[in-house]
Amino acid sequence: TAASEDLFRRALAVASGGVHSPSRSYAAVGGGAPRFMVRGEGAYLFDADGHRYIDYLSGYGAIILGHAPERVVEAVRRVAPDGLLFGTPTPLEVELDERLCQVIPSVDRVRFTASGTEAVMTAIRLARAFTGKTKLVKFDGSYHGHSDPVLVSAGSGFSTLGIADSAGIPPGVMEDVISLPYNQIEPLEEVLFRQGAQVAAVLVEPVVGNFGLVPPKPGYLEALVEQAHAAGALVIFDEVITAFRFGYGAVQDRFGLRPDITVLGKIIGGGMPIGAYGARAEIMDLVAPLGPMYQDGTWAGHPLSMAAGLACLEALREEGLYARLERLGRRLAQGLRDAAGRAGVPVQVHQMGGAIALYFTGEPVDDFAGCERSDSERFARFFRAMLQRGVHLAPSKYEVWFVTAAHTEADVEQT
Ligand code: PLP
Repeated sequence: TAASEDLFRRALAVASGGVHSPSRSYAAVGGGAPRFMVRGEGAYLFDADGHRYIDYLSGYGAIILGHAPERVVEAVRRVAPDGLLFGTPTPLEVELDERLCQVIPSVDRVRFTASGTEAVMTAIRLARAFTGKTKLVKFDGSYHGHSDPVLVSAGSGFSTLGIADSAGIPPGVMEDVISLPYNQIEPLEEVLFRQGAQVAAVLVEPVVGNFGLVPPKPGYLEALVEQAHAAGALVIFDEVITAFRFGYGAVQDRFGLRPDITVLGKIIGGGMPIGAYGARAEIMDLVAPLGPMYQDGTWAGHPLSMAAGLACLEALREEGLYARLERLGRRLAQGLRDAAGRAGVPVQVHQMGGAIALYFTGEPVDDFAGCERSDSERFARFFRAMLQRGVHLAPSKYEVWFVTAAHTEADVEQT
């Protein structure tokens, strides 16, 4: 139909703009046929013509050891022939559950899903069931997966096609959502004062990893937790990006905070699909009688993901690994600041461990509005120029660059 043709045309326009679709955007380089990445090895990606790229997308932060690390590949190889016993708990699932509970003090039990998105949705349902309340507070621009339209941040999903989600999708389960500016305590205080009796949970990324890399201002998260609890609301930390990224465990411990529910994903699957939610026993008891199939999905606790996750966490215990990521991250951040300075381009560079966000703006960035000031045209040009020079970045100004354990000093210097 004309409508679907128009939709297709618009989708193509967005994709070939090189900002949102990683695979299509390669077409912009050299103007030829799309270049697809066919292989990943350590810090590098290789396209079909054999060109090598230093990769900082790192599977949208899903990997931290680099592409196809030997230990993880071996673990997957060992498990694969076992008949893939999913659907019933396996020892691997119990082992990963226990491992996570050992290192994240706020969780007594963990359950697995196939993705971070599913784990977020279940965490919200759990908070509603536990409190008997319905409303959810989240923060502007944050991303908690690709599920309900109100949880999908600006700049992703249908909104990139200029289509209002509400046009084609019936209202979701998430009608009762209040979105507030991140890093400002007053708006939260105000909402909890007026509507606290209906708020089931406050959902937050303890370090925002989606509209760039924005750490909380000193005292912000502490105040958030205190106020949520005073209003009888649970605190859900979405640590899909942050857990095991900045240190061995969840980032909540760096702030000395214990959320009621923690959502995990990405790194804990060692490059295989995963999501997880965990909480103290009192909360997890609510789902205990429910079998995994109907609560967590067909792929919950899949042995390949469990095996890869366990092997990855084991490798992350290596002495000095996080200190090395911090050193490389700092060097990269400084290099970007220096290069921008030489070119006279105003930038903000945020860095935490091996994670980096680059904003093309002279103004400080501490919330989504700040991030939005970053010049997206300039970012698109920068993305293409870097790709041409063999450096592969996250194809959107909101995404973070992730240095992995496979990157070397030489890679960072070259970048
Ligand atoms: N929450 C956060 C903070 C994320 O960064 C993401 C993915 O980028 C998700 C949830 C959704 O996870 P998934 O893509 O595994 O569904």
